[in-house]
Amino acid sequence: MAKTILIATQNKGKVDEMRRMLRIITADLGITLAGLDAFPEIESPEENGATFIENATIKARYYADALQMLAIADDSGLAVDCLQGAPGVRSARYGGPGLNDQDRYELLLENMKHIPDAERDARFVCAVCIAGNSTEVLTAEGTVEGSIARNPRGENGFGYDPIFIPEGETRTVAELSEHEKDSISHRGRAMRAIIPDLYELLRAA
Ligand code: IMP
Repeated sequence: MAKTILIATQNKGKVDEMRRMLRIITADLGITLAGLDAFPEIESPEENGATFIENATIKARYYADALQMLAIADDSGLAVDCLQGAPGVRSARYGGPGLNDQDRYELLLENMKHIPDAERDARFVCAVCIAGNSTEVLTAEGTVEGSIARNPRGENGFGYDPIFIPEGETRTVAELSEHEKDSISHRGRAMRAIIPDLYELLRAA
């Protein structure tokens, strides 16, 4: 039985959320979760896929092969309709190197300052992939529809959370509690879709 699952991302916000969502399985099956901080020598793979699923698969396969363990990777981002789906798979690189999360969402707000409220539709997309040395690859995707706020609000979460208002909400994701975010988020939906298959895979191992 695989006793450890690697959460294969350097993004601390994603690690925290995935740890929370995997807790139900780890408690039940006696599985330990490891982070990439336990393997400081390993380099990151090049994320050159055209889709979130391709990039999540590249990452999960790479770390599973390199470390010979079950790895779960996430590729996610923000797709804005009036920007033809940008920043999309390039969300982490929007605006080029040297920017932090705040710089990136401020740049996005600046690039959308003339866009009226009715045309600010967007969605967060998350693909998750699980790969192991002797297992098939499992994948799942989740989305949350919403719109881009005019100004950032809230302190919770990470990345573009302060500027994204989920459909049916008046608050940004950064104003939601952890539990509220998990229950509607793209990552929550993708993880809930993959967890039953992961559970079966671990039970059978
Ligand atoms: P990745 O590491 O290539 O998947 O990059 C993901 C990008 O999308 C980063 O810039 C994140 O900040 C952003 N992102 C992904 N998920 C979320 C989220 O739940 N909230 C806010 N931003 C997110």
